[in-house]
Amino acid sequence: MPSNDILAILESRDGRLTKSAAEVLGQARRMADGLGGSVVALLMTEGAAGAAAPLGALGVGKVHLADGPAFRAYVGDLQGRVAARVARTVDPRVILLAASSQGKDLGPRLAAHLGVGLAVDCTALEITDGTLRATRPVYAGKALETLRIADPPFVASLRPNVFAPAAPAAGAGAAAVEPVETAADEAAVKTVLREVKPREGGKVELTEADVIVSGGRGMKDPANFRHLEELADVLGAAVGASRAVVDAGWRPHAEQVGQTGKTVGPNLYIACGISGAIQHLAGMSTAKCIVAVNKDPEAPIFKVADYGVVGDALEVVPALTAEIRKHQG
Ligand SMILES: Cc1cc2nc3c(=O)[nH]c(=O)nc-3n(C[C@H](O)[C@H](O)[C@H](O)COP(=O)(O)OP(=O)(O)OC[C@H]3O[C@@H](n4cnc5c(N)ncnc54)[C@H](O)[C@@H]3O)c2cc1C
Repeated sequence: MPSNDILAILESRDGRLTKSAAEVLGQARRMADGLGGSVVALLMTEGAAGAAAPLGALGVGKVHLADGPAFRAYVGDLQGRVAARVARTVDPRVILLAASSQGKDLGPRLAAHLGVGLAVDCTALEITDGTLRATRPVYAGKALETLRIADPPFVASLRPNVFAPAAPAAGAGAAAVEPVETAADEAAVKTVLREVKPREGGKVELTEADVIVSGGRGMKDPANFRHLEELADVLGAAVGASRAVVDAGWRPHAEQVGQTGKTVGPNLYIACGISGAIQHLAGMSTAKCIVAVNKDPEAPIFKVADYGVVGDALEVVPALTAEIRKHQG
């Protein structure tokens, strides 16, 4: 029989837990409380040692830490092996990870190593009568399906920006840190990491952003995205894009929001020249406040927008940027 513990696989960036990792931890804590188990974390990142023990304050009892040069960047082959080995040692009832780009690669590898099922991109999880009920959106968010998984360990990836992040637990001490010996895994890996090309500096990661300024085909020309970049600069925001402009080569795929792009959940999402197709809404409709700028008063984006401006984005956006600068200055 597996234990009632929850294994939370956490991502960190620059030595700090990502927003989606904090959400994984929050859900792990809630499930562990329900089962009477504890939260065990796994960190696989070079230089994350400083982030391990403080996880105790977020309710983690023990952290398995895979550190070292092999974990400088994500290598699915290696991390899948290490995660599976740690999972066999911990023998948890549930294994949670984020449905981030990394988690979407790691989840299936881990499940395959363990020979168990996987619930992907979940928006709700519940254990009843010993089985896991996992809810996830399908058909670009038009419907929700509920999966039942009967045999533990239950492996589930959590859609970013849906679950409440972990909050500091009163009176909690430091987590115990156990280094993971990974030499055998490193030797077995067939993938060689040659180079990591960092993104251009200063940009805010979309899935972590509090504010997103996003553009679509209504921006008319790739050069006009400079208006969105300027607005993003004054707001400390990330720049997003619709698929139409990514497909046209105006913007990189990393900026695409939607069903086949990223799921974002900022406090503020400013959609400029975006029609609001269902596949775009699938990635951003959980934003707390949506502002739309569109020439067409009938554009579907206005149905989900909290505030709407009917007008030319090429005029409205620079005016908005200038006005915000005035207030900031
Ligand atoms: C399987 C599948 C997956 C998909 N995945 C995604 C996805 O992940 N993300 C995504 O975004 N799409 C996705 N799509 C595509 C989606 O259906 C739409 O085609 C796309 O979102 C449209 O992009 P858009 O709003 O930029 O362009 P359009 O639909 O062409 O809309 C442009 C908008 O700009 C407005 N406009 C024009 N000029 C101006 C101006 N000067 N100022 C202000 N407004 C102006 C127009 O009124 C219009 O509303 C997917 C489609 C499929 C079939």
